[in-house]
Amino acid sequence: MEKRKLEVFKKRLEDRQRELRHTMTRAAQDGRDADLESAQDIADRAANSYNKEFLFSQSNNERQLLQMVDGALSRIRGGTFGECISCGNEINPKRLEAVPWTRHCIQCQEKLEKGLLEHSST
Ligand SMILES: [Zn+2]
Repeated sequence: MEKRKLEVFKKRLEDRQRELRHTMTRAAQDGRDADLESAQDIADRAANSYNKEFLFSQSNNERQLLQMVDGALSRIRGGTFGECISCGNEINPKRLEAVPWTRHCIQCQEKLEKGLLEHSST
């Protein structure tokens, strides 16, 4: 991939990384706040714990995305960005444009979703 294009992706990924870290810090803070405002009655308590669970699952998704973004940035450093980690083919530029942290080409992604591809450790 051209260095110039790579720089654009790097910038986008770094922005996203910063944004996600920020959101996750805030979610953790909100969770603590929910703890502090101790519930007055059972109904409040139930709502409170639901809210915490919601915050937790939300930050879990973000953690996963952050891992993908981190991975993409390390592939930029390693010079393998834009290649499918499974088959090594180049990932469609439009796909990469839409989801820069994607690790698989569309064919492998489809296989992965159908459970036909083994999860790679890389
Ligand atoms: Zn592939």
